Order: sequence, then C-alpha cells, then structure tokens
Amino acid sequence: MVIWGIDIQITKSNRKTVSIYVERDGTVAALVPEYLTDEEVIEVIKTKEYQIHKNLAQWTQLNEAKVEREYVSGQSFMYLGRNYRLRLVDEKLGEVKLKNGYFLLSRQEKLKAKELFVEFYKSKLKEKIWPIIERYKGQLGVKPQELKIMELQNRWASCTLKGNVNFHWKCAMAPIDVLNYIVVHELAHIIHPNHSSEFWNTVDKVMANYDSQIKWLRMNGAGMDL
Ligand SMILES: [Zn+2]
Repeated sequence: MVIWGIDIQITKSNRKTVSIYVERDGTVAALVPEYLTDEEVIEVIKTKEYQIHKNLAQWTQLNEAKVEREYVSGQSFMYLGRNYRLRLVDEKLGEVKLKNGYFLLSRQEKLKAKELFVEFYKSKLKEKIWPIIERYKGQLGVKPQELKIMELQNRWASCTLKGNVNFHWKCAMAPIDVLNYIVVHELAHIIHPNHSSEFWNTVDKVMANYDSQIKWLRMNGAGMDL
C-alpha cells in the first residue's frame, strides 16, 4: 500500500491496535487489526503521518551513525541491553571478561578482540537462552530440535522446516525482554513458517505486548555490529 509515496507493508492480525515501524532495511511495515477494511487502514495510517516520518528520520540517522568500533579503553559494548565500557589491562586473560561494570580485555590480545567478544556473547547467550526456550516451548507446545548459536547474516534468528533453531550471538546484546521475544518469535515459526496473521496470533497468545520489543530491535539493530 503506497501512502504519500511511501510503500507500507501491511500485515493484518488478531490485534486491537495499529503498530507502525521501520524495518532494518528501511521498509515501513504496519501491523493492523484484521477487522479493518483497506479504506479504514489508510485512514488510521494517515493519522500516524508524523510518527512514520519521525521513525524514518531516526532510521536514517541510526544508519548514518553506524559505529566502527575500536578496541580502546572507554569504548562501550552492549550486553543484555546495557552499555559497559571497555578497559584494557596488562595481564593476559585469554578471554573478554565482564567485571565490576567493565569489559576487560588484555592489551596483548587486542588483535583477537573481536573474536574474544564473539566468544563472550556466544557463551553468555547459551546460558541465558536455555531457560527461556524451556519456558516458552511448553507454552507454545513446540519441540525445537537442534539449537545453535552462530553468525547469521542480517537476522536475529532462523528456523528450519525440521525445527532446528539458530540464534545470532548478537542476541546477547539485547535486553532480556527482547531476547524473550526473539525466542517466542522463532519458536512460533516451528508452527507457522511464515509471517501470516496466524503466526502473529500465536506470538500474541504467549506475549501480549511484543510491539515494544520489535521497536527496540528496529531502533538498535544497526548499532550492534562489532
Ligand atoms: Zn520471523
């Protein structure tokens, strides 16, 4: 649906409110209640003109500000939705450590810094994500097969037809509520391998207010590269 020259992707689902957001690639998407006619959808979206333009402006700004990280003292890195500053230390650590509110990295290991950070996020995510999967797989009535934490291109998680679920190690940067949503989203794909209204209804059943989690991902996704 094109409104003021902006192509807006509309998804209807069993929800009561309209939510509009900008995808990571800059597309504008809207989740709308299924009982609205196309004319009514246009009416509602038109009342959100200011918000859409504001979101698009923020998206542009974020993508321009996409940071190139340097592994120097003072640089901040995100973990579970909070920023922690990096402190270079003289002792050899063999890993990145989070201690007393600081990420610690050995000066001698600066060249391997990215690799060590990825290891940190992978091992933390493994720890955090298991109990979340356990909780929601029962609620959704699904049986995920294999679970992998890996590097995924431009995606937070993915799910195969066999029910294998993969999570990007970057998910460890997201706040725990957002992580819960990523898990619910992916587990719901075991039932619906698409983004149909049935899919969103399934998500909605176990997590009523997932809109703010989606918003967080849209707004912060771009700044999460290492
Ligand atoms: Zn999905």
